[in-house]
This record gives sequence, C-alpha cells and structure tokens, in this order.
Amino acid sequence: MLNIYFHGSRKENKIAITFDDGPAKETERVLDILKKYNAKATFFIWGKRIKGREKIIKRIIKEGHEIGNHTFSHKRLCFKSIQFIEKDIKRCDKELDKFGIKTDLFRFPGFNIGLNSLIVCWKLKKKMIFADIVSNDWLNPWIKKRYKKKGPINIQKPINKTLTKTKKGSILNFHDYLEGIGSHREIIPILEQIIPKLKEKGFEFVTVSKLLPNK
Ligand SMILES: [Zn+2]
Repeated sequence: MLNIYFHGSRKENKIAITFDDGPAKETERVLDILKKYNAKATFFIWGKRIKGREKIIKRIIKEGHEIGNHTFSHKRLCFKSIQFIEKDIKRCDKELDKFGIKTDLFRFPGFNIGLNSLIVCWKLKKKMIFADIVSNDWLNPWIKKRYKKKGPINIQKPINKTLTKTKKGSILNFHDYLEGIGSHREIIPILEQIIPKLKEKGFEFVTVSKLLPNK
C-alpha cells in the first residue's frame, strides 16, 4: 500500500505548514515567527545541510515542530536507480537518527516522483507528503536570479495564493532555503502576513503527523 498525502481531513480547521530544504540561516527566523503566533510546522530536512547547523535541528525539535526526510542529496529522483534512492533516503534518516529523530514522513525533492522512488518509499514504509497549497515561494527569487532582473522580489503571489486557496486540512508548501539561490529572506515577510491572517480565519497550525489520519 502506498501512503500518499496531499492534505488531511477536510472536516477540521487544522492545516499543516511545511518548509523544505533547510536547515538554513533563515530557519531560525522562521522559528521565531512560529513561536510568536504559537504555530507548529513540519520541516523537510535536506540531509547534507545538517552539518554545522545541528543547533537549528535541536531547536526545531525543542520547540515542538516536526521533522521529515527530504533526502540527503536533494537530487531529483525520477530517473535514479532503486539503489541510489534507497541509499539517499536512508542516509538522511541516519543523519536525523543522530538527534533521536525517527520519521516516516518523506517529501520528494522538487515533488519529482518516479516509479523507482515509489517502490523505495513503499519498501521503507514512508508516507509521501505532497501539498495541496504549493505556494511557489521560490519562483520569483529564481526568475530574478536567472534573468538578472533588478528590483524587489514579488511576495504577493505566494501570499495571495495561500490566503485564497487554503482550506480545512490543507498542507502548505514553503521553503526556508532556496536551492541554487541561497538564503530565502522573503519567507519572513510572507509568513508575517499569512500566519496571522489564517489564524484569524480560524485555522490551527499543526504538524503533518497531527493532520493525517491515524493508521
Ligand atoms: Zn526541496
């Protein structure tokens, strides 16, 4: 049986915000905001980035958030062999294990899925966590860098998309680091807008595990 999730129960006012590609410098500021609004989140960790940032992993756990596996290498898995994928996922698990973290949550780098990765996730009993609210918070910073465009980064699109589309049980996808770009400073003003507004609408921010049905 494949455990694939795009959202949780549509009956309760709970939502799960998720952050991919950390740990990073910005993660600490994300944690500050989550604390300010008493919101819980799930961080999908890029295993290779842990070294030198162990303190951040410890803080994520200490503050009651959840951690998921986002592979060690962050390579797109679509055309990789079963052996590569299994090794990459297990290597991230091993890094997390050093902090006492055992997680069955997994997110594909770039949501890039393939037959082999499905087989490995089934074998390792991973829950594959997608999202129904994909904010694309990386897109404008990426375009700016790729085409050397000047001027401020447009944060309104991910904000508007999130505020208009989020519903009961939604899983929201954001980033606390941007592959190929670096620090994701814009995540801070984005969160400062969406978290209080979604809370005003009555949503409670919980971890992915709390959102998913117990099986
Ligand atoms: Zn990623």
